[in-house]
Parts: sequence; structure tokens; C-alpha cells
Amino acid sequence: MLTGLHIAIIGGDARQLEVIRKLTDLDAKLSLIGFDQLDHGFTGASKEQLDEVDFSNVDSIILPVAGTNNEGEVDTIFSNEKVVLTEELLSNTPEHCVIYSGISNHYLDNLAEKIKRRLVKLFERDDVAIYNSIPTVEGTIMMVIQHTEFTIHNSNVAVLGMGRVGLSVARTFAALGANVKVGARKSEHIARIFEMGMKPFHLSHLESEIQDVDVCINTIPHHIVTASVISRMLPHTLIIDLASKPGGTDFRYAEKRGIKALLAPGLPGIVAPKTAGQIVANVLSKLLREDILERKGNKE
Ligand code: NAP
Repeated sequence: MLTGLHIAIIGGDARQLEVIRKLTDLDAKLSLIGFDQLDHGFTGASKEQLDEVDFSNVDSIILPVAGTNNEGEVDTIFSNEKVVLTEELLSNTPEHCVIYSGISNHYLDNLAEKIKRRLVKLFERDDVAIYNSIPTVEGTIMMVIQHTEFTIHNSNVAVLGMGRVGLSVARTFAALGANVKVGARKSEHIARIFEMGMKPFHLSHLESEIQDVDVCINTIPHHIVTASVISRMLPHTLIIDLASKPGGTDFRYAEKRGIKALLAPGLPGIVAPKTAGQIVANVLSKLLREDILERKGNKE
């Protein structure tokens, strides 16, 4: 249980509703900022304006997956209120206050450093990234079906990158009957791809390996699908770029060559907001216990 914890949940989308549901079930006291247009009420949670919250009593701040923009503004789909995190507001929090965000940027990193509060980036954790790869793969399948006129079964699919997303994507497309080849740069990744019954290739051979591919799925957050790679593709090749913005594809050149290339960020929140929210909520409830309740308990 999280009895006795006061948590400020600031902004977010449908995923954050699962976090609110879970934390109120666990008996935490919640201040919801940026939720004034949300019809649903939660016992133990009160909707407040940012300047109404007494941050000196707040044990933790939970931000949405995207964190803030570079001006400190937090996105919220349940309010028209502009919510901006400032040093002035957050410096009132007690020293043990932990800030949780999906990802971070310069603004948020600097802010946490200045006010000397711990910032936890949930999406850097392996467990969150692996669970999150499940709805990401389902969203990728949806996009490939929507943007091709052939079956996934028996098509030639190249997956670039063998990280947490790449592995899940490759395995699932292979299970759907595609002929999957995976591009990686580490010998242990090449070995694993071979062990899984797929065709491995080193990324240094990308230009020659891409020539017979129907669908290219990139998971590498680095400029990898260059103009020169795209120039070798078949005219009907579909590129789905899953890597975080700006992706790893030369979209300008793809458009010039008439190759369909789609940047597909945030698929879990689009195709399965409830599951994506539950993934974050489950990890958060464990971390809040370990990071705050147990430490507070040890001090007392
Ligand atoms: P990850 O586990 O870190 O895997 C990244 C992969 O990229 C690894 O195979 C890594 O290879 C490779 N890589 C990185 N830099 C490279 C470079 N310069 N050259 C060649 N290979 C390189 O990350 P992940 O969790 O799989 O996530 C992959 C991307 O998808 C991230 O950008 C993430 O933000 C994004 N993502 C998108 C969605 C969505 O909805 N679109 C959902 C989840 C995640 P090495 O191991 O050799 O370094």
C-alpha cells in the first residue's frame, strides 16, 4: 500500500488515468494537475491548479511519458490550462521528493539538478522498455497492414536494430510468416538472430541487403536509413521508422524517390493506452514503495 504518500500527478494522456487508478487503489493521496476537464472522479484524488498545490507536502511528482518540452511546459489532454514546471514551484518540495518521467530533456535534467531532486526516467529501464515493446509491435503490425497491399506472410521484412524493440518486432513478424532479416552490429546480436532462425546481417552491408526488402522497420535512433540506402530499395518498399524523433531515416530523400516512409512515434499510447498506462502504473507503484516509503520508514 502507499498509505501516507502525497503524490502530484501533472498532465498526461489516457495512460495517466491507469496510473491514477492504481495509485488511488493503493491508498496514495493524489493532487491531479491538468485534469480539470476530466469527467471521471477518483476517490482520494483532487483536481487542483498548479499554484494551489502545497509542494512542501509532496513526496513525489509524476510527469507524463513525454516529460516537459524545452520550455518546461507539460502536455495535458484533459485541460486547457498551461502547465509549466518552474524552479520556483519545485524548490518547495521536500528533499526526499522524487520526480518520475517517461523520458527527459535538457530542461527537465537541468531543473532536477538545480533543485537537487532525484529524476527517474522510467523508459530507460529495461523492464518498462521490454513490456512497452509489446504494444509497440502491435502498432507496427497495424501500420504495415494499413500501408501495404500484400500480406505480411511471405513478405521480405528487414528489421534494423536488435535492442528491446527490434528483438520483439523481428520475432513477431517472423511468427506471422514473414521472411525476416535483422541488421545489427554486435557479434552477439548476429549470433542471437541466427539462433532465432532469422537471417542476420551486419549493418555495414545494409545497402546490399536492402535491395529485395518489402518492409523496412527501423529501431535505431541514429541516421541509418540514408539517401544512399533508400536509393537501393524497391519502389514499393515501405519504411516504418520506430526510433525516437527525428527517427533514423532520410525522409526528404524518401519522399523525393516516391518511397513511403513513416515516422511512427508513441505507438503504445495510440494502440493500447490502457495497457501502456498499466505498464507504467505497475512499475511506478513498486518504485514509489522502494524510493520513498521504505526510505522514509528507515529514517523514522
Ligand atoms: P535499445 O534497446 O537501446 O536498442 C537500440 C538499438 O539500436 C540497439 O540494437 C543498438 O545497437 C542500435 N544502435 C544504437 N545506435 C546505433 C548506431 N549508431 N549504429 C548502429 N546501431 C545502433 O532501444 P529500444 O528500447 O529497442 O528502442 C529503440 C527506439 O525505439 C528508441 O529510439 C525508442 O525511443 C523507440 N521507441 C519507439 C516506440 C514507438 O512507439 N515508436 C516505442 C518504444 C520505443 P547496439 O546494441 O549495438 O548499441
